[in-house]
Amino acid sequence: MTQRATTARSLNDLVEAGALPRAALDDPVLARVANDYVIAVTPELLELMDGPPEHDPIARQFVPTAHEATTTPAELADPIGDHAHAAVKGIVHRYPDRVLLKPLHACPVYCRFCFRREQVGPGGEALDDAELDAALGYIAARPQIWEVIVTGGDPFMLSPRRLSRIVAALDALAHVAVIRFHSRVPVVDPTRVNDELIAALKAARAAVYVGVHCNHARELTPAARAGLARLADAGIPLLSQSVLLRGVNDSVDVLEALFRALVAARVRPYYLHHPDMARGTGHFRLSIDEGQALMRALRGRLSGLCQPTYVLDIPGGHGKSPIGPNYVADAGPDGRRMITDYQGDLHDCAHE
Ligand code: SF4
Repeated sequence: MTQRATTARSLNDLVEAGALPRAALDDPVLARVANDYVIAVTPELLELMDGPPEHDPIARQFVPTAHEATTTPAELADPIGDHAHAAVKGIVHRYPDRVLLKPLHACPVYCRFCFRREQVGPGGEALDDAELDAALGYIAARPQIWEVIVTGGDPFMLSPRRLSRIVAALDALAHVAVIRFHSRVPVVDPTRVNDELIAALKAARAAVYVGVHCNHARELTPAARAGLARLADAGIPLLSQSVLLRGVNDSVDVLEALFRALVAARVRPYYLHHPDMARGTGHFRLSIDEGQALMRALRGRLSGLCQPTYVLDIPGGHGKSPIGPNYVADAGPDGRRMITDYQGDLHDCAHE
């Protein structure tokens, strides 16, 4: 790739960076994709790319392809049902004890498989002061809210000053015990993890967690690992969220390398998401059977510390469910339940 100083935000930028061939500019399908779904690829990621989206797991996550023009009837504009649980602007209240707070919809990069791809973008809605106050007021009025998940978009795109204001306002609510940020920034734009950002997070009385989105071990460059280390050294617990994606991480070797690299960077693998039914993302999806087979293979290879929970967000807003695999079978003598070990062998544990 040709080095760039700034984020690529168009097909033209991607051609100039060498991430797409010049012929891409004459492709009407690709032009439609670029019109429908926003593009952003940081210089760090452009430098990491090593081939076209068909062959390179980094390019595949961020460089648009004509596949995105194909939409099936089952795919949805809002696949996890955020709108069904939108309480006030910027708040999604799906479970009784926690809410999502979405102060903005901008991201440092735009992932081609994003479940909020029809909401995010530089022009995506951001909360103004009055709307942010109303969202914080909603949380203040509900003492059952124990955890606030600040997401978006990417909350680490906010200025440290605005981030501090949100942390202070949440921290002033005695019933909020946990503030969890979800961000791609520490991996894709690690220079943003600076002293001001860390000071904003550290100021809280509540426990502050950071969940980082990372799908391939190659994303954990020395700069990304240094950004994560700055957060970990500041005492901020780190979790990961990864999306299982065809052509990116759909092999046991790639997943093993990813989860080992995350744990070595002091990031605890938390969720492996089955891909959502977002429009134009069918080329990324695997079957649940394939996902379960991968998780089964990982069980034998990695310690529990490296094992995320494999989850699916049920379309329509019904929440997340763990989707296996299941290690308990009803195959024993007298109908007793049998337990499958990590090699696939069944054992009668005589627990019942
Ligand atoms: S960083 Fe998250 S919200 Fe932003 S485009 Fe990627 S998946 Fe979507």
